[in-house]
Amino acid sequence: MQEVKVKDFSFKGQQVFNMLLFVFIVVLSAYLIVQLNSTNYGLFYLVFAAALLYGVLFVFPIGGADMPVVISLLNSFTGVAAACAGFLYNNQVMLTGGILVGAAGTLLTILMCKAMNRSLLNVLIGSFGATASGTQQAVTGNYKEISLSDAAVCMSYANKVIIVPGYGLAVAQAQHVCHELEKLLAEKGVEVKYAIHPVAGRMPGHMNVLLAEADVDYDNLMEMEQANDEFKSTDVVLILGANDVVNPAAKSDPASPIYGMPILEVEQAKTVIVNKRSMKPGYAGIENALFFQPKTSMLFGDAKVALQKLVAEIKAL
Ligand code: NDP
Repeated sequence: MQEVKVKDFSFKGQQVFNMLLFVFIVVLSAYLIVQLNSTNYGLFYLVFAAALLYGVLFVFPIGGADMPVVISLLNSFTGVAAACAGFLYNNQVMLTGGILVGAAGTLLTILMCKAMNRSLLNVLIGSFGATASGTQQAVTGNYKEISLSDAAVCMSYANKVIIVPGYGLAVAQAQHVCHELEKLLAEKGVEVKYAIHPVAGRMPGHMNVLLAEADVDYDNLMEMEQANDEFKSTDVVLILGANDVVNPAAKSDPASPIYGMPILEVEQAKTVIVNKRSMKPGYAGIENALFFQPKTSMLFGDAKVALQKLVAEIKAL
């Protein structure tokens, strides 16, 4: 199916306009509630249309990588709306369900904001897109590929390997074969660990759940801070379908939409092998300079297929 992309949209003074629109909706709604017996449907439809417009203007300026936080926030609003409806209809089930969804959604939003280094206030006033200004640094240079046999040798004779799982690993459902690779390397005396970025994949905890499903030992999973301390002493980092969470632009390019987001500093390791299917960007839609660094090699292919072949190569060594 053809992917449709909607570009960020904002205009000068949008925040002030949004706030005025919001106040307008609240005042009009209050008036409608006071005039409970009124049959003024015109006003009702006006509130409806204004709320629709507000929703669109609230979301449109928000950049790609920040979008999940907003989705989670809107999700928590549905819970609050359901809880209010529970009050209205005196329905305990609706009330409880709404409170649960609202609370869980709010907690998730706060966790995601923290992981992406954004404040919740930023979300509420819809100023995400505005944080990046200027022109993004151009990513230039050549990337190099690595063959499966070279990758197998490189990892088999390393002392320490860190695997960085990302969205691509989840899509390919490659967690089981990834665990197989880990066991194989461990049998060869290689220390293997996983570095988990808090927003890797498509929801917080996505990678933890995925790897737990494949029986990966929880002790081998490292959170971002711990992993960033360990990359210096790592021979090979194997990135499996991750992109934005290892993009150095988050630290070095103030014009980047992901600037300020904490990342896994994989470039500190001696060698970086990146598995993905092409040079296409990740969720945030931006280029990644890591792929063009001299210490990085690309291992193209679907994560599951590439790992299966890698496992076979290592077994044959
Ligand atoms: P990204 O989306 O940045 O990158 C995933 C990469 O996986 C792509 O570049 C893609 O490249 C590759 N890929 C896709 N399919 C396959 C496959 N079958 N085999 C191998 N590779 C594949 O993922 P990250 O995990 O690095 O980052 C997560 C992003 O998602 C962040 O921007 C984050 O903000 C956002 N996000 C986070 C949420 C959260 O709360 N965790 C929620 C929603 C989004 P190619 O097409 O070339 O294969």
